[in-house]
Amino acid sequence: MATFAVRAARMFDGTRLYGPTTVTVEDGRIVRVDTTGAPPPQGVPAIDVGQDAFLLPGLIDAHVHLAFDATTDPVAALVAADDAELLAKMRTAAERAIRVGITTVRDLGDRNYLSLALRAELADHPENGPEILPAGPPITPPGGHCHFLGGETERTTAALLAAVRERHERGCAVVKIMASGGNMTAGSAPPYAPQFSLAELRLVVDEAHRLGLPVAAHAHATSVIRDALDAGVDTIEHMSFMTEDGVDADPALLARIVASDTFVSPTVGYFDTGRPVAHPPAIVSRLAEIQAAGRKLFELGAKVVPSTDAGIGTFKPHDVLPLAVAQLVATGVPMLDVLAAVTSVAARACHVADRKGRISVGADADLLVTGDLLDDIGRISDIRAVIHAGVQVPTN
Ligand SMILES: [Zn+2]
Repeated sequence: MATFAVRAARMFDGTRLYGPTTVTVEDGRIVRVDTTGAPPPQGVPAIDVGQDAFLLPGLIDAHVHLAFDATTDPVAALVAADDAELLAKMRTAAERAIRVGITTVRDLGDRNYLSLALRAELADHPENGPEILPAGPPITPPGGHCHFLGGETERTTAALLAAVRERHERGCAVVKIMASGGNMTAGSAPPYAPQFSLAELRLVVDEAHRLGLPVAAHAHATSVIRDALDAGVDTIEHMSFMTEDGVDADPALLARIVASDTFVSPTVGYFDTGRPVAHPPAIVSRLAEIQAAGRKLFELGAKVVPSTDAGIGTFKPHDVLPLAVAQLVATGVPMLDVLAAVTSVAARACHVADRKGRISVGADADLLVTGDLLDDIGRISDIRAVIHAGVQVPTN
């Protein structure tokens, strides 16, 4: 693999902002970061990104579903597709993500471990998709939320332990458990109700941690968010604070979240389809309060990782994360906080901070170069270059 340099007017390294910077890439890794403003090293070709370029780590979307095709009925489309067809759709989704600079995705629910197959395919072709951190099929009770993905697990000690061990043996990067009900599965528990007990969540978390795997818990319900914290899960997904008749973002619970080691992953970001967003009824009546709770967590200093749930509807295509970044900034969250959240903080949440989410020597050469974001966060879509594992991605 070639050695090359990227020179930008500004650089955000995942934590801090710098002026003119030259980053040198060799064999897929960052080997040099020069923030003195000196010209690129002699004999090292620099790729042309323009005079006003802004360099940041490749984005991390900590909650996607490559197997959902972002149509009006992704569940029906998934059920109708055989594995070869589904894998073909997942390749398309991965390509769409990488082209906007999303260099890592955590897939929190596939079917038949197909995201592991795709991860293997992409290993030699980083220009075709992000690095995938797969969960495989989410653990859910028989008939439970998203059971059609194949992760149905009896609520017994033996079955829950076996489910965690299977994911570890297959090489998953995370265990996903559907701790509360959800919105996509007819006949299953509603989102404001639990699907597992605290003891069952503890069992899954303890076994996953023993095997070195983090746990992501899907949790809409306030009671389930509490249980997930008590069980010590690594990330809480959605964080909707739902009760049967509304939203209860109890300040004491928010304070507990801030003080805990748990990362929170509210699923945000909307692509403008030209039509109103088709939220499920349980979300519509609660949306304003859910969004207010999410902003409050940011303000209080919780470890917030904005992710997208890409794939679940037409308003959630697999390249929606940059829009989510711009939308969060528009709601008043400071830009550098948002950029840190989708790079260095997300890398910690996903247990890949040793090599992702930062621009520093030794890190994976996952880079996004855009127009000047200080001038206008909308320029996150003015893409000058995407580099994944040291390979430049064709972006147009
Ligand atoms: Zn999801």
